[in-house]
Amino acid sequence: MQQRRVLLVFLMLLFTVFSANASDKIHKIQTGESLFSIFSDKLSAATILNLEKEIKRVVPDFTLRIGTIVKISPASVTISPDSLTDISVNLLDDDFNLEVTNHPVHTVTTIAHGVVESSLTDAMVKAGEGIELAFMLADIYEWEIDFFHALRKGDSFSVLVEKKFAKDRFIGYGKILAADFVNQGRFLRALYYEYNGVKGYYDVDGKSLKKGFLKAPLKFTRISSTYTGKRLHPVLNRYIPHHGVDYAAPVGTPIHATSDGVVLNREYNQFNGNYVKIRHLNGYETLYLHLSKFAKIRKGSKVSQGSVIGYVGSTGISTGPHLDYRIKQYGKFLNPLTFTSPNLKLPKSQRTAFKEAVKPLVAKINTAYGRDVRFTLLRNSHMRSDGSLM
Ligand SMILES: [Zn+2]
Repeated sequence: MQQRRVLLVFLMLLFTVFSANASDKIHKIQTGESLFSIFSDKLSAATILNLEKEIKRVVPDFTLRIGTIVKISPASVTISPDSLTDISVNLLDDDFNLEVTNHPVHTVTTIAHGVVESSLTDAMVKAGEGIELAFMLADIYEWEIDFFHALRKGDSFSVLVEKKFAKDRFIGYGKILAADFVNQGRFLRALYYEYNGVKGYYDVDGKSLKKGFLKAPLKFTRISSTYTGKRLHPVLNRYIPHHGVDYAAPVGTPIHATSDGVVLNREYNQFNGNYVKIRHLNGYETLYLHLSKFAKIRKGSKVSQGSVIGYVGSTGISTGPHLDYRIKQYGKFLNPLTFTSPNLKLPKSQRTAFKEAVKPLVAKINTAYGRDVRFTLLRNSHMRSDGSLM
């Protein structure tokens, strides 16, 4: 350990010695600066014009942005328009030659571990990572954890993530390969897996972390009316948009919540009849209209995907027994028939391939835990007797 630290310090010194050169000047492009302002004391205007043409020929999307790093030394100027590209202009008596270097990207996999004190982003920064990783992590668990209301002090996470480097500098995150989140004592493991070209996160049993929606909320006889911006209303005899799908079904057919959520409305009005409105995560709402009666739910009740919320009827403005089902996201109606649910369940035939694929990820993320944490996980039965985490 001691030896390794000494070596590290030595390498750092070496790096400092080689990278610092007294005659080099590092400059960040400011507002109003151009190639002309950089090269005016080195090249003639005509040559700078040629230089600009030549740079654009070699690096077509080149622009000199505010903040672009320019290294100026007596015989050359190096412009780094992004972290992967260096354009070196070697100066030759009112002439130049260009050298473009495309730096390779190196990907390193690391584990970040943090405990929430005040917010997920703060915890991530304390763990030595960028806030974008907090957003990536929150995205994985968006159907499982309500980050606005349910995050608690003491919640913790471990993230196995790819980090990309170029020129020995961190340039951004790649994929999160695996993650653990302990939210209010609930342990949630997410494993990255690609199936049929669709990227997703699954628990150890291959169940997707995205809950999504059921295709339809009931067993129906037929679709009597589809979603449209404009249709002749059978009762009102006017052209009005129909923002739902009408499923014809016998009176009393059970209606199921299409996703986990909280009941926002469970009431009667003259248009919708008896209706239920459910709020889901990510700004989704579903509506179920014209019910004959409600199941045992109240405003504020938590419902899970598939649970019965009411029964088909013909209350409100309706010509016969049917369910009018609607989906909204952030206040905008979506067509329930063409809407792609974020749900992704691995078919049984994929389970073995999945288990094989995630084995190395599980092994790696388990190394995030010291013996104390392992013991806690074991005590809370998040761990199987063979030491693997559930
Ligand atoms: Zn309808």
